[in-house]
Amino acid sequence: MPYQNCRTECIVLKNVDFGESDRIVTLYSPDRGRFAAIAKGAKRSQKRFVNKLEEFSLLDISFRPARHNNLHFLSEAELKEAFLTLRTHWQRYCVAMLANELVLRFTGEHDPDRRIFSLLHWLLESLHHGASPLPTAVFFHLHLLNASGYRPKLEHCAICSCLPAKNRKLSFALQPGNGTLICSRCSDNAGYSRFTLSLQSLKFLQTAQGMATRQVHRLQMPENVASECLYVLYSYSKYLLQCDIHSWSFLAHIRKKQSRDKTNL
Ligand SMILES: [Zn+2]
Repeated sequence: MPYQNCRTECIVLKNVDFGESDRIVTLYSPDRGRFAAIAKGAKRSQKRFVNKLEEFSLLDISFRPARHNNLHFLSEAELKEAFLTLRTHWQRYCVAMLANELVLRFTGEHDPDRRIFSLLHWLLESLHHGASPLPTAVFFHLHLLNASGYRPKLEHCAICSCLPAKNRKLSFALQPGNGTLICSRCSDNAGYSRFTLSLQSLKFLQTAQGMATRQVHRLQMPENVASECLYVLYSYSKYLLQCDIHSWSFLAHIRKKQSRDKTNL
């Protein structure tokens, strides 16, 4: 029996050239999750796929499901939104690339989660319309961890239950093994670690955890706080994934530049 063509909405996470004329795209769809598809002749075709299969593009696609492997066959793609400013603004591009990579790494193939699709769509749209990149990245990363089952528990120290707001002389760090907080009194290592959070950053993360995407504009997160939060979320994610997150190198560059600019003021 011939395979039926299927349709779905999706976001392009990644694309790589394959052979002389084809391209393999990795996509995330609300009803099919993450999957890969081959676009035959995409490097030559001036009609079917030109400028449609770039990272971040929101598409409506028609595809034939794979028969013998995990690679679907992309028949057609209709571009719904290209989010073009993400390719011309360096910070927006870096954050969008990081978001794509995090979705690639935190999701399994063919394991759809509409929250993750909506979150990624929200991030691309927000950046495209000029939202501040680093705070947007923090909100995205925090809620992606939540949807993936790794929600950091930031309310109090997991051992003595002391609250950060009432123990300002203590420092608090995120324990990567279980995603809970530990205060410097309970920790053997009271010094600074890559998981240590300032009180201000902790407060912003706690607030952001309780917010929906439509409320994010209320979160006035300073860039230095966003930068610290991102670094801790990155370190935590790297520990969880047990592999490097390549797009982080772009953001690390932005964070270094920010701290240099601050020093030169
Ligand atoms: Zn404690």
